[in-house]
Amino acid sequence: MADIIQLLPDHVANQIAAGEVVQRPASVVKELLENAIDADSTLIKLIIKDAGKTLVQVIDNGKGMTTTDARLSFERHATSKIKSAEDLFQLNTKGFRGEALASIAAIAHVELKTKQEHEDVGTAIVIEGSDIKSQEVVVTPKGTSLSVKHLFFNIPARRNFLKSNTVELRHIIDEFHRVALAHPSIGFSMFSNGNETFNLPQSNYRQRIVNIFGNKTNEKLVPVEEATEVLVISGFVGKPEFAKKSRNEQFFFVNDRFIKSAYLNHAINSAFEGLLKDGAQPSYYLNLTVNPQTIDINIHPTKTEIKFDDEHTLYAILRSAVKHSLGQFNIAPVLDFDRDANLDTPYSYEQKGMPSVEVDRSFNPFKEDTPKVKTVASTPTYKKEPSANWESLYVGLESKGTKTTTDFSEIHFESQPQNESIFKNENAVEQKQTTYQLNNKFIISTIKSGMLVIDQHRAHQRVLYEDFLRHITIKEGVSQQLLFPLELHFSNQEIALINQLKEDLESTGFIFQSIENETVQITGVPVNVPESEVSIILEQLISDVENEVPDSNFSATDLLAKSMAKSLAIKTGQSLTNPEQEHLVNRLFGCTEPNVSPTNRTTFITMTVDELDKKFM
Ligand code: ADP
Ligand code: MG
Repeated sequence: MADIIQLLPDHVANQIAAGEVVQRPASVVKELLENAIDADSTLIKLIIKDAGKTLVQVIDNGKGMTTTDARLSFERHATSKIKSAEDLFQLNTKGFRGEALASIAAIAHVELKTKQEHEDVGTAIVIEGSDIKSQEVVVTPKGTSLSVKHLFFNIPARRNFLKSNTVELRHIIDEFHRVALAHPSIGFSMFSNGNETFNLPQSNYRQRIVNIFGNKTNEKLVPVEEATEVLVISGFVGKPEFAKKSRNEQFFFVNDRFIKSAYLNHAINSAFEGLLKDGAQPSYYLNLTVNPQTIDINIHPTKTEIKFDDEHTLYAILRSAVKHSLGQFNIAPVLDFDRDANLDTPYSYEQKGMPSVEVDRSFNPFKEDTPKVKTVASTPTYKKEPSANWESLYVGLESKGTKTTTDFSEIHFESQPQNESIFKNENAVEQKQTTYQLNNKFIISTIKSGMLVIDQHRAHQRVLYEDFLRHITIKEGVSQQLLFPLELHFSNQEIALINQLKEDLESTGFIFQSIENETVQITGVPVNVPESEVSIILEQLISDVENEVPDSNFSATDLLAKSMAKSLAIKTGQSLTNPEQEHLVNRLFGCTEPNVSPTNRTTFITMTVDELDKKFM
């Protein structure tokens, strides 16, 4: 038999390698930015067209390449950064595999221009799918410019696999942030479709963070500094009161390399213990410097995980350093301990200036309608901003006009079962107390054939979700004018997202006066959305859009409805009176899809008398 094994031609090998190194335009951005940094540049410019699908270009003022090196740089395993295996243990460059340029050139149209400082002229190379098309002498400034056009031009499947421009650009910006944060002493700028999206001059670390995330960030930052034999920590954590729902501002850099580490993240969370609202994420921007010999960086180029020799020690040092900073900057003592949750919710009634609530803590909006069900009269039954949440039960109810607190008296419960409700089939809802609350989490309701156990949070999400969807689709959302415009601050990137969702937000009832310069001015909000919750709703929305990395059938409308429903739904732990429980149950079964929450989780289960009987056998 003839031999059948062959060595793959280089361009095929490169294309295969490219599949691993280059997953999307953002991977190209990362590789090119890192090469520019390794070349000792002080100014780096990133130019993007169509979220990198048409063009990714990086221009630097670094040391450039000789003509021979320029040509060699596109060969596989061609690197100037390591010479032997030992060098791997004292890496101080980003690259070392010599794979990136060869891979990129295998799957795109690449143009390189490069010149070293003392040369008069430089080299230009055009290479398409590993084919060198031309090599010329050019006049070009010191440094290197590398453009990557038509990424995946020869791998249509990959190209089709790319997500929407919004999503791809989001990934690019993430990479840009990571690299720019790790190198404040290098100036960076970024242009997307001709617009300057970031201009980050050479600066110190604090300024770099502020330049990226917006001026408002400055007051949030608490410095963290610690130097031990094994670990040097420097950077900042965000003050707890500014913590958001999103994890977008969580950065670890180990020896100037962005890494993800759930373990170290846990160390930070535990340092913040007791200081954060439920679900809030601390922000942090921390640089860890360790001896390169104690980490294993020789990992996959696209991975951001890292292996440490002694993780436990790092955990302990990190946690105590952050704790120390929070304490030193007088943050911990003020917010610590088992305090009333009312005090740190930004949307308490106190702030809304509703004296009746301040004074009468047993205030119950349902009192007049249903005196008999009020069980606990004088003790404050509600732990958390009861009334604020109460209003939200009515979000989406047909509303006659502007809402004020006194409107509560005008609300009538839908006491008849909805047409499509399961009660209809059972047609024997008991007239007396038909619902009970269990653990402030579940609502138990009796039906003829047995009982229903409803998850209150999920059920309410479903109700609100369908309301919002309806409003958005038929654009019927009713607005409630604000007495004073509400001004909220966001980063540029968040502003861009809000702009994209503006139209849908308006259909729910939001009225925007302006969206610009990191500031959103809101003059109207959907009826029954408490003004104090607006910032939370928008933050949640931004975080949802960013984190869920929507797929191709992503619908902004749907996401918006889901996100708002999630923000406004009554929470687990919220105590409900009987009419409130009944109302929720009725509304749930008036929904088109009562069985699941908007995120497809079960909203209720049933247990029939038969099943119960069996349990008692
Ligand atoms: P690696 O970065 O792992 O060495 P690359 O394929 O990214 O591999 O780059 C190959 C070589 O090309 C680098 O080692 C470097 O010598 C040279 N190079 C790439 N980009 C630049 C640049 N912007 N400026 C100067 N040299 C560069
Ligand atoms: Mg490289």
